[in-house]
Amino acid sequence: MTQRLVILGGGTGGTIMANRLRRHYGADELSITVVDRDDDHVYQPGLLFVPFGHTHVTDIVRPRHRQLHHHIDFRQAEIDRVDIEEQTVHLDGGEAVPYDVLVIATGARLLPDETEGLTGPGWMEKVFTFYTPEGAAALADALARFDGGRVVVNIVDLPIKCPVAPLEFSFLADAYFTERGMRDKVELVYVTPLDGAFTKPVASAALGSMLSDKGIELVTEFNTGTVDGEGGRIISWDEREVPFDLLVTIPLHGGAEYVSRSPGLGDELDFVPADEHTLQSKAKPNIFVIGDASNLPASKAGSVTHFEGEVLTENVRRFLAGEDLDASYDGHANCFIETGFHKAMLIDFNYETEPVPGHFPATVGMPLLKESRLNHLGKLMFQWFYWHSLLPGRDMPGVRPDMPLAGKKIPQTSS
Ligand SMILES: Cc1cc2nc3c(=O)[nH]c(=O)nc-3n(C[C@H](O)[C@H](O)[C@H](O)COP(=O)(O)OP(=O)(O)OC[C@H]3O[C@@H](n4cnc5c(N)ncnc54)[C@H](O)[C@@H]3O)c2cc1C
Repeated sequence: MTQRLVILGGGTGGTIMANRLRRHYGADELSITVVDRDDDHVYQPGLLFVPFGHTHVTDIVRPRHRQLHHHIDFRQAEIDRVDIEEQTVHLDGGEAVPYDVLVIATGARLLPDETEGLTGPGWMEKVFTFYTPEGAAALADALARFDGGRVVVNIVDLPIKCPVAPLEFSFLADAYFTERGMRDKVELVYVTPLDGAFTKPVASAALGSMLSDKGIELVTEFNTGTVDGEGGRIISWDEREVPFDLLVTIPLHGGAEYVSRSPGLGDELDFVPADEHTLQSKAKPNIFVIGDASNLPASKAGSVTHFEGEVLTENVRRFLAGEDLDASYDGHANCFIETGFHKAMLIDFNYETEPVPGHFPATVGMPLLKESRLNHLGKLMFQWFYWHSLLPGRDMPGVRPDMPLAGKKIPQTSS
């Protein structure tokens, strides 16, 4: 009998899973349905470059259905809720889609309205986010018009997608204003709820000193409570204030809204609890989670989604065959960090091992935690790999889902 796989979300994770599983199974063995609310697949890492005019939104968006192999049913609809007891997804408009196995790949949702004042006066005038295509494009216009003052980059709270993207934005802003010959007229300030530039100590120290070398002020342990767009200031819960002329905000993130209407599925932030190593949900054995939608302690990153996809493809196969699941996902994340002036860093880490210096993927390769032009080229080339290798579900030569230890200089204190 044909088994029914339904994948919620046709972004990075949903597309990878659909294409990998389609290759594995004939259409008579497994029907695959992907549900997404729209047909615009955004290459989200490209949003970083839009504000600086290095790319345009139209260059980073492709039709979603065209990224899916033949014999994958694409339904364009808003998901209303999942009934995990009845094994049915309910779509807006009333259609019910039954499943034998469900993969949740609905990513993370931006919640700017959850912060007082953030979307009030000044929103999209002097308060922007580059985390959406509209925001990134509007910020490009605002930066082009900007003639000096305080630019504040603020992470409201964690977790966020691509936790290094706000740092990259700050480094690129330093390069952008330098290249426009007006860096001396701009104060750049990086405001984070963390106690340093990044979560992990070795990388935090390296990135913190890079901020300082570039003259970017670092404000730590700032938990944003209110945004006063008119007055040009952000105010923390403990009543500290940071003034701005232009605010680049990374709003609060949560899981997809339908999760809150699906009893038993999600946590209080609408992320979906899952096993850290198998990606099987805690809700039901026939529900799996990939990418930003989960509550895993891994980064919310496309690289994580890709590595998870390799393990999860195997686990859907094992589940359908009645075999024990593969518990090999180790939290592996791999992120380029643009540092401006055609250079970038690379970090590679997992649940156990923090980002350290060395090389990736082995003793010879791209330098880790060190600026290089090679890493910058790697970051730029990644868009091609995304559309032509990662989304179609091909393996990347030399890159495995588990984190390589070879090439890493692990300090004594790091496990
Ligand atoms: C500015 C920025 C820069 C980034 N840079 C990098 C980087 O350099 N490297 C890196 O590895 N990662 C980066 N990322 C993160 C990366 O893009 C995400 O982690 C990745 O896309 C997650 O994939 P996903 O499948 O979980 O979610 P997504 O790709 O976001 O897909 C989720 C899908 O679910 C759909 N959906 C949600 N709710 C519903 C609903 N109710 N009904 C119907 N459809 C729904 C959405 O439309 C969407 O298509 C960046 C992200 C941003 C925002």
